[in-house]
Order: sequence, then structure tokens, then C-alpha cells
Amino acid sequence: MTYTDNGNHGSYRVKGDTGDWEIVVGLEVHAQVTAQSKLFSGAATTFGAEPNSQVSLVDAAMPGMLPVLNGECVRQAVRTGLALGAEIHRWSRFDRKNYFYADLPQGYQISQLYHPIVGEGTLDVETDDGTRTTVGIERIHLEQDAGKSVHDLHPTMSYVDLNRSGCALMEIVSKPDIRSPAEAGAYVAALRQLLRYVGSCDGNMDEGSMRADVNVSVRRPGEGFGTRTETKNVNSVRFIMQAVEVEARRQVELIEGGGTVVQETRLFDPNSGTTRSMRSKEDAHDYRYFPDPDLLPVEFDEAFVADCLASLPELPVAKRARYVEALDISAYNAAVLTADVETARYFEAVLDGTGAPLATAAANWVTSELFGALKKAGVGIEASPVKPGQAADLLKLVGDGSISNSIAKQVLEVMVETGEDPAAIVEARGLQQVSDTGAIDAAIAAIIAANADKVDQYKAGKEALFGFFVGQTMKAMAGKANPGVVNERLKAALAG
Ligand code: ADP
Ligand code: MG
Repeated sequence: MTYTDNGNHGSYRVKGDTGDWEIVVGLEVHAQVTAQSKLFSGAATTFGAEPNSQVSLVDAAMPGMLPVLNGECVRQAVRTGLALGAEIHRWSRFDRKNYFYADLPQGYQISQLYHPIVGEGTLDVETDDGTRTTVGIERIHLEQDAGKSVHDLHPTMSYVDLNRSGCALMEIVSKPDIRSPAEAGAYVAALRQLLRYVGSCDGNMDEGSMRADVNVSVRRPGEGFGTRTETKNVNSVRFIMQAVEVEARRQVELIEGGGTVVQETRLFDPNSGTTRSMRSKEDAHDYRYFPDPDLLPVEFDEAFVADCLASLPELPVAKRARYVEALDISAYNAAVLTADVETARYFEAVLDGTGAPLATAAANWVTSELFGALKKAGVGIEASPVKPGQAADLLKLVGDGSISNSIAKQVLEVMVETGEDPAAIVEARGLQQVSDTGAIDAAIAAIIAANADKVDQYKAGKEALFGFFVGQTMKAMAGKANPGVVNERLKAALAG
């Protein structure tokens, strides 16, 4: 494979003793396909099941068992490719990648080396400091996952759990277009976001649904690509960024010390924050790849691709733009609300209840009040005790003046605790906003009478005291007075 530069490099550099170095990174992300059953068998794929309870005879590689391709996995790979604007190959094929390992009973992994299902695409990423870059996607292929060897349960023996054996993975291979730890992190985060929108992978990195092989090399700015190492199976955004950083530094020190980087497979140790050599890098010929004789090539027609395309939801970039342009939501809130598909789904369900005129109010409320309440309660938005319909009802109560913003905060607290509807809470606790000028005027009159000195000061020009009178009136009205009416009546009363 020969690569060319994507030409939009960030300016991140590693400072060596002999000058600056540029980092070059390409990521191979393994994403487990969201599907009820495995790539070539009907066994279930639920995470966390009893070891070896989701293993069919195919997954256990019993002699004579034949793989049957799961069409749903093909569909998800194609949808993912389309979301990345990638070339969809109407004809692809499975190959056997032969190697021995205890958690690979077949003695080979079924993968797609020569004819992957998805070809070149792109992913736009933005780092926290606002730097934007486009990372090229080289390919996506479908392959089987292996089982899991468990080495730490017994002092002298290892266990093998085959539940994961045969689960469908999409291997999403980037071009070496990434130039810093931050870009590597942003790329994985953007990819995870997209997969979760598409629904082709749940993106649960701590359950192993997404993990990355991190290819890193270094070079002097302007030089050609250096020799890379590949750090295997890194399973969090933070660790991926760390692995890039420490591996680049190691290579710089090595080269500056007169050594050369060898192409090898390395392991990242999160405890020490270092990488160590695992084995020398294999080449494709070491695996004796050949077309799997048990499987026909994968072929589909335009109608299938069109159907996959039609099934895609609105994707994050488009959604974010629409929030700003059509709903008048701030760019910041639009980014926050679209960051994760669950948040966007919740927000749109709230909008269904409030209607577009309350969109900006809803955006502000979700990103500040609701997020704050959920954080305090320690739950994610998908498990919010306040349902979107209830949130919409609360916003409508504020919108039509039934309750004030400060009362809405109290109501939200009760909603989080009890799950009750806002109208019921307002009703039961008598929290309706008072706009009735009679009650407000009476309160104001009492406050003016009790604070003659302050009234004099105010009239003498100390306007800052106005806030004091507002506060006192609100207090007297137990927070329920309509703030607009209070302002108006106070101004009138103090002018008198
Ligand atoms: P393989 O790992 O199967 O040998 P490739 O040669 O296609 O496969 O490369 C795999 C990954 O390594 C890709 O993500 C690619 O972007 C990245 N890569 C290739 N060359 C370099 C390099 N010099 N520095 C950093 N990453 C690289
Ligand atoms: Mg590789």
C-alpha cells in the first residue's frame, strides 16, 4: 500500500533533542456489528453472558459445519460505508487468514483481505481546539472476532471463552492522515459518534465493542513516511491518545540515540502508560490468505444499496447545521445536543412536545438544567427519570407563564425524584405563578412601608437598590410572582 499526504496537517510536533518531529498515525478500528446473531452462525451475541453459553457448532469449528452469511451484518457494513461517503463494492469476497491460537478453534479467521465490502471514504474530525481535518478511510471489511483467552483466573491454566467467537466485526482502516494524539482521539470519537447514529455498532468501548490498532511512525517535517509500529487492541479514546504519544516519543528517542524503528506489533499497558514489544510484525503471506471455499462472493444490486441509503438517519454534521439554521439554536448547544445520538433523540422528542417555537428554550434547558440534574442523579440521558414528554410539559408551563424559571427548577428536582408530571407537581404544591397585580401590589406596599430608608436612597439615585426590592417582593410571594409583573409594578410604586 502506498500512501500520499492528505495535506491538511495540524502543527503538532514532538520536540526531540535534535529538533522537531512530526507524528504519523493510521488507525484500524474494530467495531462489533450490532446484530442479533453472529457473522456466520445463529448464536446470540449478548454481552456479558455466561462463558461459552453463546457458541454454536459453527463457532466451535466442529468438523463439517458450514458458515452461512448473516445478511444483517452485510447491511450494517454497507450503511456504515455510506455514512462515511465511501465506495460500496457490489462484489466482495471472504478470505481465510490462517493462524493458530487457543481462542481460534477454526485455525483461521474469516476476513476480507483482497476484496473488502467497502472502499475509500472520509471522516471530518475536529479537535477540542477547533482544528479541523479530513481523515481518509482506506477500507472497511467484515470479519469474525476470535474467542477470549482468560489468563488470570488460575495460577497454571488458561481458560477460553468462545462467546465472542464468530461475532461480526467491521474493521475500519484509516489512511495515515492523523498527525497528533488529539487528532487520533477526535477521529475515534467522531467515528464512534457516527457508528452510534447509524446504529451499526453500539460503541461501548469498555465492553470491547470498539477497539483500535494504533499505527504510529515519526518523521522530520517534510520527509517521507517512517517505519511504523502497530499497538494492538487499545480500548479507550484516552488510551489511544496516550499510546500515540508514548510510542512517538519512544521512536524519537530511539532514532535520536542512533537506533532504528523496527516494524513490530506492540502492546499498550495502561497501568504504566508504556508500550512494549509483543512480536515482530507478520506480513500477509505469513497468514497464507486464500478465498474461503465455503462461502460464495457477496454480491448485491443497486436496489439494496439504495435501500441502505434510505435507511440512514440524519447524521451528526447535518443535524448540527439544521439545529443552528432552522431552529436558531446556538452553535455551542447544537454541538452538545448532537454529540451523542441518545441526546439528540431525547432533544427531538422534547421538541415534538413543545413545537419549534420553544426550540431555543428547550436547547438551553436540556443542556443546562436537565444535564445538571442527571449529573447529580448519576444517570445517563437514556435512563432519564424525566421523560421527554414531561420535559416538554414543563417547558410549556414556563413558556405560557404558568410558572417562573426559578419555580421550574424546583419542579424539575421533584420530577427527578418522583417521576411525577410537572402539572401535577405544580397543582399539588400550589406553585402556579402569580400574575395577579392585586396580590403583588399588596406585597410591594408592605415592603415599601417597612423600608422607608431604602426607598429614600433609591429615590436619591441609588438605583442598584431596585434588585433589593425585587428580591424582597419575590420572597414575600414565595418565588411565585411573575417577575415581569413584579418589575413593572415595583417601578410604578417606587416612582410614586
Ligand atoms: P496491515 O496492518 O494489515 O499491514 P496496512 O499497510 O494497510 O495494513 O496499514 C494498516 C494501517 O497502518 C493503516 O491504518 C495505515 O493508515 C497505517 N499506516 C501505514 N503506514 C503508516 C506509517 N508509515 N505510519 C503510520 N501509520 C501507517
Ligand atoms: Mg494491521
